Amino acid sequence: MKVAIIGTGYVGLPTGAGLASLGHDVTCIDCDHEKVERLSAGKVTLFEEGLEELLKSGLDSGRLTFTDSMEQGVRGARVVMLAVGTPENPNTGEANLDYLFAAVKQLAQCLEDPAVVAIKSTVPVATGDQVEALIHKTNSKARVEVISLPEFLREGYAVHDFFHPNRIVVGTQCREARALIRELYAPMEPSPKMLFVSRRSSEAIKYASNAFLAMKIHYINEMADFCEVVHADVHEVALGMGEDARIGSAFLKPGPGYGGSCFPKDTKALLHMAYKHGVELSLVRSTISGNVKRRELMAQKILDAAKDISCPRIAVWGLAFKEGTDDCRESPAIGIVQHLIKRSGVTVTAYDPKAMDNARKLLGNSVTYAPDKESAAQGADVLAILTEWPEFAEADMKQVQKLMASSARVIDCRFLAKS
Ligand code: NAD
Repeated sequence: MKVAIIGTGYVGLPTGAGLASLGHDVTCIDCDHEKVERLSAGKVTLFEEGLEELLKSGLDSGRLTFTDSMEQGVRGARVVMLAVGTPENPNTGEANLDYLFAAVKQLAQCLEDPAVVAIKSTVPVATGDQVEALIHKTNSKARVEVISLPEFLREGYAVHDFFHPNRIVVGTQCREARALIRELYAPMEPSPKMLFVSRRSSEAIKYASNAFLAMKIHYINEMADFCEVVHADVHEVALGMGEDARIGSAFLKPGPGYGGSCFPKDTKALLHMAYKHGVELSLVRSTISGNVKRRELMAQKILDAAKDISCPRIAVWGLAFKEGTDDCRESPAIGIVQHLIKRSGVTVTAYDPKAMDNARKLLGNSVTYAPDKESAAQGADVLAILTEWPEFAEADMKQVQKLMASSARVIDCRFLAKS
């Protein structure tokens, strides 16, 4: 099947490469010409385990191509997926749909053949209606069915999750569109669970899921604070809770709070959407504010560990918002570092196995960047572990302590280090 994907970011690229490996003829379209050139040459533009191999095999097979031309990319496509960013509007907290609507307008002008337009981007409920109207307004001859096909992949596991989705939610009442999406995923082994729902329900499922997971993270972080004062072990508590099938063990790991390009913006967008309709989502609201406070709390813990030192040197391990990715968008580690460097006299030396380039874009010259974790720790008064990379969990902390200043302390915000 010929498929076009608009947007080759963290969602579009693994999806495109994955669909090509299932035997489809995929063209990925991106307005970023440099990205298109790099990807066409087999160079990945973001880090995800297994993505480079998948990209290369797609290019070699001739089933995966990249272009910056919308017209060329969508020609003959039976399914066109929209996977452009829907970032937060910093003034209101709502989802900014400018990129989506710009892409839809360009797409509408090029649509000659009948197609299913699948919205993979995370969009507010009823955006499908707006996209449909915009396509018909731009091109009255367009023959399209607009559906919602939200993405649930986890960054750091994008390739794995493409091939092993726990469910594929398809939001449309159109029988032909449902059949086409079933055909699209038919080569997948084992065959994925597909849920067919209305377009609006599908749009809402994505927000409801992300907000629930964010709330679970916030909940266990609050439990961590509680356990600390009552001298209980939050890990044992999480284990005991997670064994209950009604609760489940995922997302019960205490830490510096959630981050990344989805949970922070999606919780705010959901709150905003509900508020506009007169509904107060108090749990989501307190999750958002609790997550902000969590970063301040972690930064304070790190600073407290250095309170007797006049100009403390703080080593930071981890800048990505979680392990397995180079993505620093809304990373708790970046937020914590920003709190630390606000204090006069504090200097930070940071290291991350994959996210240094992205971190540099956010932190600039405000910190020193170390080539490895040992160099970061060298001479430090405090070591803060902010991302759960396996290489930090596996580090010999006794050796690391020897590199640090004499009375140095380790603040393990991810609860990784062996004592
Ligand atoms: P991203 O910023 O990594 O990538 C978006 C890409 O779209 C960029 O390469 C950009 O150049 C391109 N683009 C923008 N406008 C375009 C246009 N008019 N034509 C062609 N290309 C255009 O974004 P992402 O992280 O992949 O997220 C995409 C969507 O998927 C968002 O709505 C996000 O909320 C949702 N989502 C993301 C994840 C994730 O883990 N990142 C998971 C689930 C859902």
